Amino acid sequence: MAFWRIPLDAEQIDVTRGIVYIIEDRCKGCGYCIEYCPKQVLAFSKKFNKKGYHLPEAVKPDDCVNCHYCENICPEFAIYSAEASPSAEAVSG
Ligand code: SF4
Ligand code: SF4
Repeated sequence: MAFWRIPLDAEQIDVTRGIVYIIEDRCKGCGYCIEYCPKQVLAFSKKFNKKGYHLPEAVKPDDCVNCHYCENICPEFAIYSAEASPSAEAVSG
């Protein structure tokens, strides 16, 4: 997301991080998750599933903010996200 100005407290805000999971054999390669991810985390991979569809893959996994949008928009319930564990640095800091 592009801000017209960076919020003054931006450095104090913890951004949630997510991990995206794909249930490969459910995917029908429609690309909705790729098209609508607000952080452009996903892209089509060269891999095929059993049905012969190209699967999405996380090309920018560190940018996932665990918004669940891909999960909500997928017509096949083939993708979901979960909160990434806080890093050791975040826990200790
Ligand atoms: S959870 Fe949100 S940011 Fe992460 S891959 Fe899905 S749509 Fe993109
Ligand atoms: S929205 Fe679901 S079915 Fe469509 S490409 Fe993404 S994971 Fe596959």
